[in-house]
Amino acid sequence: MSTETIFDKIISREIPAEIVYEDEHSLAFKDINPQAPVHLLIIPKKPIATINDIEEDERELVGHLFVVAKKIALQHGFAKNGYRVVMNCNEDGGQSVYHIHLHLLAGKTLGWPPY
Ligand code: 5GP
Repeated sequence: MSTETIFDKIISREIPAEIVYEDEHSLAFKDINPQAPVHLLIIPKKPIATINDIEEDERELVGHLFVVAKKIALQHGFAKNGYRVVMNCNEDGGQSVYHIHLHLLAGKTLGWPPY
């Protein structure tokens, strides 16, 4: 199940975003509230609410998001130094927008664990 989110409005250009990458299946744009010097969100154009809603036949689409992350990292020059991709799920996971998205964080040595 999926209801419309702010990310659908970004996909349709109803609201602006700083888009850094787009292809037929995905979009990547700058997070409005960055948690690192580089903080991008990589989303499928197909609305999938949470990780729990990913279907078997969406494996390729979800894997594609990682390929996009790698491409952006190479293009933007932080692949070698390193970066983090993370996807939050539901309340305890820290999810606030119910359209799956990879956070791509880079530009500093990131702390771990995330609490
Ligand atoms: P989540 O908390 O669901 O893992 O991540 C949602 C992310 O979306 C947050 O990091 C938040 O800052 C970002 N976000 C929420 N609304 C907007 C928006 O309208 N534009 C952009 N660019 N990012 C947004």
